[in-house]
Amino acid sequence: IMRVSNLKKSYGNLEVLKKVTFEIEKNDVVAVIGPSGSGKSTMLRSLVHLEQIDAGSIQIGDEFLVKDGKYASVQEIKQITARMGMVFQHFNLFPHLTVKENLELAPRIVKGEAEAEVDKRSKELLAKVGLSDKADAYPSKLSGGQKQRVAIARALMMKPDILLFDEPTSALDPELTGEVLQVIKQLAEEHMTMIVVTHEMGFAREVANQVMFMDNGEFIESGEPESFFRNPQSDRAKAFLQRVL
Ligand code: ATP
Ligand code: MG
Repeated sequence: IMRVSNLKKSYGNLEVLKKVTFEIEKNDVVAVIGPSGSGKSTMLRSLVHLEQIDAGSIQIGDEFLVKDGKYASVQEIKQITARMGMVFQHFNLFPHLTVKENLELAPRIVKGEAEAEVDKRSKELLAKVGLSDKADAYPSKLSGGQKQRVAIARALMMKPDILLFDEPTSALDPELTGEVLQVIKQLAEEHMTMIVVTHEMGFAREVANQVMFMDNGEFIESGEPESFFRNPQSDRAKAFLQRVL
């Protein structure tokens, strides 16, 4: 469902993505792990066009967001990126809107969907993330874990083909990470296609069907969680796991 080849990106003289290549099948749950500064966030942000890459290709289904460094038209970019949902470390909810309004804004404004349809879906998704009673609350009244569950529900409102997470639990107190990981786990069981950048190795091991290890702007190694964690091949992955496990 997604094919990425030879992505390159630099900030000035700093080459952040060197040669990022990977492929994701429908229903895959991919955990992306790697040291701080290795380029994980830049890679995710490039996929949804929050960053512009310098070279390489990103293909979703049979459409190219960018092909050999050449971007699709503005209209095509909108359509292609609409197939992806993104959940950020710091939630990025609209503070002046209620939970329900946060969920409904994009479907109403961007997609122009009918109010009844959007209302029905926001109720379903709030129930799914366990926050039916918070529909009219403002984000400032929610815990971090609740905010992140709202952010996940908001991403799902757009019916994405792929959901991307950038360290969804890193800003949370430890006792709140479980409720967010539980929601992601449930989505995995429902076969949502997901890429999750995470420092939670236990979660990666349990929920992902593929782990990809990024270091210094490229994927060094990937594999099924069991074999990757038990028997990493590269020295860099071994050293990384020794530090974090
Ligand atoms: P972390 O695990 O800490 O979130 P990361 O793997 O997500 O790290 P990135 O945020 O992608 O890493 O950053 C990769 C490199 O690019 C870092 O050296 C960072 O300082 C640099 N970088 C990121 N964004 C910018 C920017 N807007 N301008 C300049 N340099 C940047
Ligand atoms: Mg990051």
